[in-house]
Amino acid sequence: MAKKTIADVDVKGKRVIMRVDFNVPVENGVIGDDRRIVQALPTIRSIIDRGGRLILMSHLGRPKNGPESKFSLKPTAERLGQLIGRPVHFCQDCIGPEIEKKAAALHDGDVLILENLRFHKQEEKNDPAFAGQLARLGEVYVNDAFGTAHREHASTFGAAQAMQGKPRTIGFLIEKELKYLGDAVSAPQRPFVAILGGAKVSDKINVIEQLLGKCDKLLIGGAMAYTFFLAQGKSVGKSLVEPDKVELAKTLLAKAGGKLVLPVDTVVADGIDSTQTSIVDGGVIPADKSGFDIGPRTIKAYQAEIAKAKTVIWNGPMGVFERPQFAQGTRAVAQAVADVTRHGATTVIGGGDSAAAIEQMGLSDQVSHVSTGGGASLEYLENGHFSTIDILD
Ligand code: AMP
Repeated sequence: MAKKTIADVDVKGKRVIMRVDFNVPVENGVIGDDRRIVQALPTIRSIIDRGGRLILMSHLGRPKNGPESKFSLKPTAERLGQLIGRPVHFCQDCIGPEIEKKAAALHDGDVLILENLRFHKQEEKNDPAFAGQLARLGEVYVNDAFGTAHREHASTFGAAQAMQGKPRTIGFLIEKELKYLGDAVSAPQRPFVAILGGAKVSDKINVIEQLLGKCDKLLIGGAMAYTFFLAQGKSVGKSLVEPDKVELAKTLLAKAGGKLVLPVDTVVADGIDSTQTSIVDGGVIPADKSGFDIGPRTIKAYQAEIAKAKTVIWNGPMGVFERPQFAQGTRAVAQAVADVTRHGATTVIGGGDSAAAIEQMGLSDQVSHVSTGGGASLEYLENGHFSTIDILD
């Protein structure tokens, strides 16, 4: 169902509380990569330019026992201030009477960032009292944190529930994510090619099942392929496999018919640190070797499938791309996805490692969309909706 966005709400003079994903890397108080802040700018600007009084809330990292300065959101207030060219207020906490006073004192166009939500363990528990205290701060609720949209936390779910009766909308980042991911799965231009890789089949079983029902070809790479080889009775040597998923892999293979495509060759080595590599046929991995990447014939075959596509979704690397000797498969797929985008295909990169690979290669702006949420995009492909967004207007 189409969702209202913040553009549909008159925010002038109103306190707008917005969940953003400012979970940026911070080292010694310095932000390494500010992309997550930059991606929230269209929504932030839309609110403050129209006279809204903006209160931003986010998590950063995984603090375990209350406040820790290395997980403070303070550096993001400074960075956002530079980006929008005006001072951004910062609060030492995210709830309580002091914060309520500061929120009430905001003027039109002001921005206030609350301290890390996860300094309170009630955030991840979706504690109703904590959610209620967040909700009290705003008169309008916005969620623009795609990266945490698959989690029912106090800031993403409870606070929105508590603000029933007030305007509650998505921001432009979530709107864009839903458009690309949603269109790709519900109304794809065909051929629709899905590419899945990464370490484990188990993480992606439900996604494989969902995608098999929708796509024309599902190309498999990464260690995931070896569990399918086992299911076919082939040899995988010392490769990373999930023996307890072999039966399931058999079922998926039977269901998939010709849709599920496995590597025809594999780059193998003695171990992950070895630079002595060789190529073997797919599923013929010697007992003393492990597979770490798709081989050159697989690259060619996958490039050919991708080149024919009108829609591509890619999640998970083709090999251990962190090591140059095993990065070729992932790099070739990234390039093929960028190339087919130039020829008019819609291409969506599902966050996480595939997004990192595309970025490392400088190809981010040569694909249609790079998702800002790895886990969230997988869950969206699996379920087709988020409860945190279902409850918004
Ligand atoms: P995931 O989080 O499931 O998407 O997995 C990503 C990780 O899978 C990356 O860190 C890769 O290094 C790893 N990976 C990909 N292919 C292999 C492989 N053949 N053997 C071991 N790990 C792999």
